[in-house]
Amino acid sequence: MTTADSKLESLARILRQEKAADFQDTTVIGGLDLFLQRWTAELKPALGEFSSYSVLTPPQREKWVDGALAKIGPGAADDAPRRPLRHRHPQAGARTLALDTTVDRLRGASPNTLRLLRRLGTETVGDLIYLFPHRHNDFGNVCKVSELQPGQDQTVIVSVWEASESRRGPRRRSTQAVLGDETGNVRAIWFNNPYLVKTLGPGTQLVISGRVGLFRGQPVFESPEYELLQGQEQLVHTGRLVPVYPSVERLPQRTLRRMVKQALDAGIGRVEEFLPADLLDRTRLQGLQAAIAQAHYPDTMQDWAVARRRLGFDELFLMQVAVLRRKRAWQEDAGGIPLDARDTPLDGFLASLPFRLTGAQRRSLDEILGDLGQDRPMSRLLQGDVGSGKTVVATAVMLLAAFRGYQAMLMVPTEILAEQHFSTISRLASAAPESREEEHIAAVAVEGASSPINIGLLLGSMAKKTKRAVHEAITAGEVDVLIGTHTLLQSGVEVPNLALVVVDEQHRFGVMQRATLREKGRRPHLLAMSATPIPRSLALTMYGDLDISAIDELPPGRRRIRTRWVEPERRAAAYEFIRREVASGHQAFIVFPLIDESEAVHARAANEEYQRLSADVFPDLRLGLLHGRMALREREPVMERFQGGDLDVLLSTAVVEVGIDVPNATVMLIDGADRFGLAQLHQFRGRVGRGEHQSYCLLLSDSPGAEARERLKILERVDDGFQLAEEDLRLRGPGDYLGTRQSGLPDLRVASITDLDLLALARREATRVLDADPELSAGENSLLAERISRYEAGIAADLS
Ligand code: ADP
Ligand code: MG
Repeated sequence: MTTADSKLESLARILRQEKAADFQDTTVIGGLDLFLQRWTAELKPALGEFSSYSVLTPPQREKWVDGALAKIGPGAADDAPRRPLRHRHPQAGARTLALDTTVDRLRGASPNTLRLLRRLGTETVGDLIYLFPHRHNDFGNVCKVSELQPGQDQTVIVSVWEASESRRGPRRRSTQAVLGDETGNVRAIWFNNPYLVKTLGPGTQLVISGRVGLFRGQPVFESPEYELLQGQEQLVHTGRLVPVYPSVERLPQRTLRRMVKQALDAGIGRVEEFLPADLLDRTRLQGLQAAIAQAHYPDTMQDWAVARRRLGFDELFLMQVAVLRRKRAWQEDAGGIPLDARDTPLDGFLASLPFRLTGAQRRSLDEILGDLGQDRPMSRLLQGDVGSGKTVVATAVMLLAAFRGYQAMLMVPTEILAEQHFSTISRLASAAPESREEEHIAAVAVEGASSPINIGLLLGSMAKKTKRAVHEAITAGEVDVLIGTHTLLQSGVEVPNLALVVVDEQHRFGVMQRATLREKGRRPHLLAMSATPIPRSLALTMYGDLDISAIDELPPGRRRIRTRWVEPERRAAAYEFIRREVASGHQAFIVFPLIDESEAVHARAANEEYQRLSADVFPDLRLGLLHGRMALREREPVMERFQGGDLDVLLSTAVVEVGIDVPNATVMLIDGADRFGLAQLHQFRGRVGRGEHQSYCLLLSDSPGAEARERLKILERVDDGFQLAEEDLRLRGPGDYLGTRQSGLPDLRVASITDLDLLALARREATRVLDADPELSAGENSLLAERISRYEAGIAADLS
């Protein structure tokens, strides 16, 4: 057998496969033309002149393939066993994959790509399908080379004249090429991509999309998107509206786009419409498969908007159905404990406070008292910006439970905050402070109450003996108001007369913990408190199972906190500023992103800075250190000394983020501010400005990037938590859902929290569906029911 013979044989094999794959030109990687070109010399005698397979239509291809097979050998055209071949060589067009197929089953996924996909939170084909682009490049504008206009996004279909590597220095290897169509030539250069040369053989057909610049008066594409023109495959990177995905560092758009496209081609057929048909009719929302396809590769921007409306609706609707179901389950029977405020010492307590409640505090309190009087368990969210005075409202209602002979429980996210609430509440409640009997149970006298109220503190890190003592007091009903972290839920603490549970900084708790809580014994009233500023409409959707009260006013006499971003070279001035404030009797916080120095992250760390500042910068001041890895008995005295004014400067990590209340502190210096998000920075800032003194927030950063600078500038300008949340979202853009979770905002990928119409529609439809079929047991709701249970399981997984 000659070489030519064996080549002919492989060609025949390829052609038979091509026939089995419906002439999609997918048999040879890079296209059949590539194969033909390479072997022209050997094949020419058998096949004659032939220009290009890729330009033929499928019927033309069929004719040509049959002809070629006939020439190669008698009978060759007929012995194409379609099925088995297709089975052994699944082709792109034919392949389908279940949505839970892991991404490593996709073609071209290197270990590195797989790792990055995992970082992006995409593990399965379904995840990739649901990774929606946050915008598109409009490369739909196809023209001839002679028509190219500088400065615009354009697309040309060209062939390669020549391509070469160009070097400018050892690291700067690029590919440059001369490309042309019948109207003229254009140059293209791909910086830092010398490997492309290999792909761009002379004669290769290419689609090029990008912005055209001018170089010495000639049009040139700089690092344009490119795509080999092969067969009938849909264009992915060029020549259309091209998706731009939210990505992670070092995962190029091109790779991501290829992976998503593969997932889409293989999996979209498996996506099931889960919305009931009559809902779709009523709302005129687009079908799910079409919406997903158009969200990735829309024909027009209008189609994109239509698709996003459907997908955004799904997010809000699922969220809404889930919360409404919870609310219904919670309220389905009575069994709450009515707590009537009349004829109790509550007014006496309020009158004994060193301040009067603001109008907003009073209104919220009345709303809560209205709920507590019912035998249906309350389920309410108390929302109010940092420093708006939620604690006193909570204290009032917990005391009410105690006055009525029941127990109340306050849960907070950190031990430090629990300790602080313990002392604040003991102080607030105590008209004439009584001596503390035990360290972790304080008996306080409340104005007008016949007997003292016992406040208890229970922390996971307490000594066993202390814990046991507090436990016993709780079980015996001797503790009226119990304060602790969420370990209260796990520790098997029995609270026999529990009538009210307050959850502070509730976004850190989450739905599942709330649910566990409710399962404990009887159905206590629930008051959740949050400083996370979200628009009311969104709160309704996120926390649809909660009624909402808002404290939308700060106590009087608060002064605007002056926020300044301090340039790195002015670090000494910032220290000097702290020194001056301390000299006039005030205190300061310095917050760091890390506890210890780390090689991975370049940032200042609390431990090292504590050493340095104590020795070199503030040797004459009283410094304290606080971080999450310290034991309770190390932390307690530090917090106590700072609270009592015996420390001038408290250095800490993010543990002081929430709740800490030391009104004499006037400076919050955040060292490494670029490492925190806006919401978190706002929380830190809220630690000062809590008294009548002018307070300051200083933002330091050794090397802020452009984006961090913008964030810090916003913080300088904006005080209001709600406005800040909006700026935050604007800055992140709607596509950045990766960062929304830590800010307490919901994980919305498509829907925008500002789309009030869609929110209202989702709410209306959710109510309608549940009114008709509360258990979602009807046949037309079966896929919806399944989707909801996956949604709820997802929330549970997120929070565990
Ligand atoms: P947050 O809502 O952030 O939890 P706090 O409850 O910690 O706020 O209150 C912040 C500070 O404001 C505390 O020092 C508290 O004593 C004080 N405060 C609360 N209500 C009032 C009021 N009506 N008038 C004056 N000061 C108040
Ligand atoms: Mg608070």
